[in-house]
Amino acid sequence: MGVSNTTYNSVLMINADLEEVKKFRQRIMAIETGTPTPVARIEKRAAYSEEDDFLNKTPYKPISEIRDLIEKTVCVTIGVVKDFSPGKSWWYKSCNICPLAMREVGDGYKCSRCNAESQNFTPRYSLNLKVADEESYASFIVYETVGSEYLQISAEDLRTKHILRGGNRIEFPEELSKFKNKTFLFKVSVKLENINSFQPVSITVMKLCHDEAIISSFKQKYSIDQDAFFPANSDVITLPADYSDINKE
Ligand SMILES: [Zn+2]
Repeated sequence: MGVSNTTYNSVLMINADLEEVKKFRQRIMAIETGTPTPVARIEKRAAYSEEDDFLNKTPYKPISEIRDLIEKTVCVTIGVVKDFSPGKSWWYKSCNICPLAMREVGDGYKCSRCNAESQNFTPRYSLNLKVADEESYASFIVYETVGSEYLQISAEDLRTKHILRGGNRIEFPEELSKFKNKTFLFKVSVKLENINSFQPVSITVMKLCHDEAIISSFKQKYSIDQDAFFPANSDVITLPADYSDINKE
């Protein structure tokens, strides 16, 4: 017997002892019985509140300034998620021990940090969000901790769900549209990556805030009053999930 799914292009021989198969079965059972595996690790409680972090502790920079940064910076910004950046997958094959991406070696995978070789991997989020403010836009990356906390499902569980529904590698699961056309405050870590590329910096989301009251205070503090551009999240129109043109390989 053989199956083909989005992970394996070739035929995978079903063997009851295979770790990946066992794990997959457990996940299906967990999803079917409505007891998904716990989302995200327990985060250390910050010494100050989310509100304080976004409003007082971290400097604000508009997206146009973030794009021009040349040294490593942590800042907060406001923006609307317009879409997912085209041509990028929503998850990656992570090491089972650390969050590093695994390299394919022979029939398996290898982590260059742990030096561990494995026959399987852990899917984790790498969501490339196209974020805009009134003047500029940039690509922000959301990884597993932030992504699973907002979506309330881990990438691993979402991928399993997606496969069970018959979703393929090109399509994005509809759950991800929860990001689209919403205004967020982002706490980001900005790093210069490639001076010659269209976006020279990599922008990693460390925290995501969608609390209306905090967003409202933020807009007030920085005199951002373009409500037309930053819609209130309460009356968001969710666009139909049509991802057919993106993520082509
Ligand atoms: Zn590793």
